[in-house]
Amino acid sequence: MRIKGNLIVISGPSGSGKGTVCKAMFASMTDLHLSTSATTRKQRVGEQDGVDYYFLSRPEFESMIAEEQLLEWANVYGQYYGTPVEPVLNAVNRGQDVILEIDVQGAFKVRKKFPTCVLIFLIPPSRSALEKRLKNRATDSDEEIERRLKWAESEIQQVEYYDYLIINDEVEKAADKVVNIINAERCRPALLDIESLMQKYR
Ligand code: 5GP
Repeated sequence: MRIKGNLIVISGPSGSGKGTVCKAMFASMTDLHLSTSATTRKQRVGEQDGVDYYFLSRPEFESMIAEEQLLEWANVYGQYYGTPVEPVLNAVNRGQDVILEIDVQGAFKVRKKFPTCVLIFLIPPSRSALEKRLKNRATDSDEEIERRLKWAESEIQQVEYYDYLIINDEVEKAADKVVNIINAERCRPALLDIESLMQKYR
């Protein structure tokens, strides 16, 4: 009944738990495609190239921009991040919904290209909870953590332009809310093959 899949954007400050919530969500919704972004930032311990990100040099990333291989890209904390377009289009054309874990700038670019996309903003319950998560993660220097906290303040100002806001105080609950949103969005007539449906009523 669906003509094609939709794009589900999940944004939120670094440390908001997007990755953990997505993992929990994938456990109950297996028919989704998770987009793997490209980035020029350094690979962290435990991250896998091609799984967590495609880790690229600046010239490699810039050639992807020049060759229009990115659905969107942005400069976040001085590094490039972007969404390779081909896997996303292949998935939506197969009828799969695609999850994009991207920043606010990227989210607005996706909305321009795909007006039916769904924008979800995830935040931790407070600034101190965010700070604690960034420190516990132990992957970034104090200077980097400070930079990410400042960035978070400005990102949160954009929340009014999102369709949904989820406060991530418990991973399972937050993941359930994302699942509920995706299921509700799948009922939107704009994404359904209304013509075939109507034939059944003639
Ligand atoms: P991190 O370095 O902590 O993995 O990610 C930093 C920020 O970059 C996060 O806010 C994340 O959502 C954002 N990000 C990750 N991939 C992309 C992408 O492909 N495009 C954009 N615009 N932002 C991204």
